[in-house]
Amino acid sequence: MNQMVFRMTLSTSDPQIWEFYKKEWHRQEEGLELIASENYASLDVMAAAGGIFTNKYAEGYPGKRYYGGNEFIDEVEKLAIERSKKLFGANFSNVQPHAGSQANMAAYFALLAPGDTVMGLNLSQGGHLTHGSPVNFSGKMYKIVPYSLNPETHLLDYDEIAEMADKTKPKAIIAGFTCYPREVDFARFAKISKSCGAKLIADMSHISGLVAGGAHQSPIPHADVVTSTTHKTLRGPRGAFILSPAEDTAKLVDKAVFPGLQGGPLENMIMAKAVAFHEAARPSFKAYAKQIVKNAKSLASALSDLDFTLVSGGTDTHLMLLDLRNRKLTGKEAQISLDSAGITTNKNTIPNDPQSPFITSGLRIGTPALTTRGMKEKEMNEVAHWIDEVLKNPNDEAVRGRVKAGIKKMTAEFPIYPNLIKE
Ligand SMILES: *Cc1c(COP(=O)(O)O)cnc(C)c1O
Repeated sequence: MNQMVFRMTLSTSDPQIWEFYKKEWHRQEEGLELIASENYASLDVMAAAGGIFTNKYAEGYPGKRYYGGNEFIDEVEKLAIERSKKLFGANFSNVQPHAGSQANMAAYFALLAPGDTVMGLNLSQGGHLTHGSPVNFSGKMYKIVPYSLNPETHLLDYDEIAEMADKTKPKAIIAGFTCYPREVDFARFAKISKSCGAKLIADMSHISGLVAGGAHQSPIPHADVVTSTTHKTLRGPRGAFILSPAEDTAKLVDKAVFPGLQGGPLENMIMAKAVAFHEAARPSFKAYAKQIVKNAKSLASALSDLDFTLVSGGTDTHLMLLDLRNRKLTGKEAQISLDSAGITTNKNTIPNDPQSPFITSGLRIGTPALTTRGMKEKEMNEVAHWIDEVLKNPNDEAVRGRVKAGIKKMTAEFPIYPNLIKE
């Protein structure tokens, strides 16, 4: 077992590093991970990611490499490509992007020229940095026309997006979000894109596990290019991939990834992606994806009952966004006090947030990681009460200690890696 080798060698050869590995291991096992973009990869995925494929250079694509000795690497990359195509019903796939940001960059390079107009959701309302933030390459290289959520409902306002697209004639529209709790209507986005001659880039990074498991509609039939990370709801290794419906687009994407913006692909991570796609094709993954949403809905309703305000009133997905203003707390304060009780979340701006992005009025909460541990609706109800208790007494150490002890007890019943020997 890969992990065992790692433990045996590093614990003696580099005890300084091993010390932090152990601490992080305990933090993961003994805490409640509610960050919507995190998950726990399987031992097989981790073994692949940490395996001998890390030693190999494989610039190029299967059958067209710049280095020798790639006969087995090629087979694994081909499997990763085939498995991702099959899992999502796509015609073409590129599994080389190192991360979601690189995947988006490749999609832009494939479809756009510098200076082109792009529409993406405002970062402060749930978009991603790579959807046009001025501090990111996307905001620097392209003319960004940000769209917003409806100020009352906090939902995507398709009529307004259509009107804006008609007026500004973007070359591409980005549909994909880091903090949108509701189902996205990709068919509607496609209609809007077609009517103004724009390409549709669907970034399903957050929801690709839900899409794979049939718990969210798929963007594949609707978008010109679909990008995704592999490490969020999809529960794979850190990394990304890009799906295309048409051969001409796929060729542009391949060129954009290599030699456009990456050198040697991380074949160890590509192997781990192949393993993750295989896992996500199993019936048990469908049940997992559905349980993520069930858990999110039950956590959202329990929090609502405890007088928390949910942006858009609830969730259809794996995440929810709390508006903490009625609790007289900022997102930053809430994140810090929950952290010290063993509950990991992240502060997040709410639509039209009066606070800065460093303070915020919101807290983003997601259920993919707890669902991987096997927790269900009953545990979600308990989690909601713990969140409420801590945030009612954000500076009370006794309360935090009591909650932390309760969490330690519950998490012990739902080990992440039951087969690993604890240190
Ligand atoms: C997480 C995410 C990304 C970026 O992924 P990284 O791997 O962190 O670069 C891009 N787009 C969306 C919508 C995301 O949620």
